[in-house]
Amino acid sequence: MRIAIAQILHESNTFSNRKTTVDSFKDYEWNYGEDIVETHCGVRNYLGGMIDKGNELDVELIPTFSTYCNPSGTITKQTYERLKDELIKGIQSKPNLDAICIALHGGGVTENHEDLEGALLKDLRNVIGYDMPIIVTLDLHGNLTETMVEAATALLGVNHYPHTDTYDRGKEAIDLTVKIVRGEVLPKMSLVQLPLLIFPTTTYQSPAKDVNQLCWEKEKEKDVIDCTFFHGFARSDTAITGSSILSITNNNIKKAKRISEDVAREVWQLRKKFVHNHPSPENGIVQALETEDYPVVINETADNPGSGAPGDGTFLLEALLKKNIPGTCFGFMYDPSVVELAHRNGIGSTINVDLGGKTDSQHGEPLPVKAYVKSLTDGEFIQTSPMSKGATVKLGKSVRLQIGNVDVIVCSTKSQTLDEQIFLLHGIDVNQYKIVALKSSQHFRAAFQPIAQKIITVDSQGISTSNAFYYNYKKIQRPIYPLDKSCTFEV
Ligand SMILES: [Zn+2]
Repeated sequence: MRIAIAQILHESNTFSNRKTTVDSFKDYEWNYGEDIVETHCGVRNYLGGMIDKGNELDVELIPTFSTYCNPSGTITKQTYERLKDELIKGIQSKPNLDAICIALHGGGVTENHEDLEGALLKDLRNVIGYDMPIIVTLDLHGNLTETMVEAATALLGVNHYPHTDTYDRGKEAIDLTVKIVRGEVLPKMSLVQLPLLIFPTTTYQSPAKDVNQLCWEKEKEKDVIDCTFFHGFARSDTAITGSSILSITNNNIKKAKRISEDVAREVWQLRKKFVHNHPSPENGIVQALETEDYPVVINETADNPGSGAPGDGTFLLEALLKKNIPGTCFGFMYDPSVVELAHRNGIGSTINVDLGGKTDSQHGEPLPVKAYVKSLTDGEFIQTSPMSKGATVKLGKSVRLQIGNVDVIVCSTKSQTLDEQIFLLHGIDVNQYKIVALKSSQHFRAAFQPIAQKIITVDSQGISTSNAFYYNYKKIQRPIYPLDKSCTFEV
């Protein structure tokens, strides 16, 4: 059995002032053929799971095209055309395929398509027809559409946030693909969309944890292949933005529909619990100081580069520098020009710089600081978070600055912080610090929850804030909760 594998991953924050281009993708991953296996084999991610399961079941996996870009702004039209061409060319050039497995996100937006994944799958179908099974893995932050459901044979979303099960979904995709090709199952999918905007909500806790539990109960029913709660991606202003439930059964559309509706009703019941009210950076620091044990992790959700925010926002850092509490570290700020200057001046020098706040005017002003250059690195390490464990991370030239009592790491590539490796690389043992500050919404929990005595999420203005009312939505379908309190939902 010959199964082609491919990957195109992007979560598009349409509120970003930076467009996403081919070069943006090339900054993270752009691979063909065997290089895909080389990059992902042994890594705990979608493709790593597909590769391991393929080997286990002795199917012939045909790697075609794989790209990934950190969440960022809308994808340009030209970039869409290139991604589509690479995907289709990669698959068309491989003869005698039995099926295709693709890792997509679900939250991609381009200048010409609100639904990147739906458009890609439809364009692919237009070329290869509807006979060949296409099995797709998705992120739970996907804004799902009927276009995707119609074009794919099966759509499998991650269940956990932090996404610690991308590897498992990759394995499941190959497993299911083999069964489909052998004619053992015939997937039928039912999608129910909710008029509901959900901002980052971990599945470690209620209410998302309870919804997962319900989905897994449903999966125990006869002929149920999958039931997934898609939170959707609310930092995207499109007519398809919102959360949804997708169920897959073996040739029983009625049952799939009933299950999706049951779970959707439960999510709607819980809607108020998905609204967050986080403290400001200043108040978060006060709460951290009330905690005797350490480390206390403070995560800045309004400037999460993992949601397409700039990563150079200064609200939390400014508040920490003002307090100047001994035993504070921040990992990390994105500011290539400051890194460059630090590398030119060298270890042991003192530099005067304007730190951060350079991408736009929504995430705080640049901070004028006098900083001691403590250590310099190339920003490269192997990820140890259970999420994508084993992946090589390249944050570019980096520096550890000491500003008063605060250790601040600055990198040349933007990314959220997923584990303690960027700190260790710069000689910082987070376990010895009172306050560990970082930019992320939920993914950091996979590595930091086991070591943090307390986690405090702080929020402010910014293009990844959890405050729905901050966003200047123009295209989303109304009414939608929580923007429209009296919004109703019935299935
Ligand atoms: Zn996600």
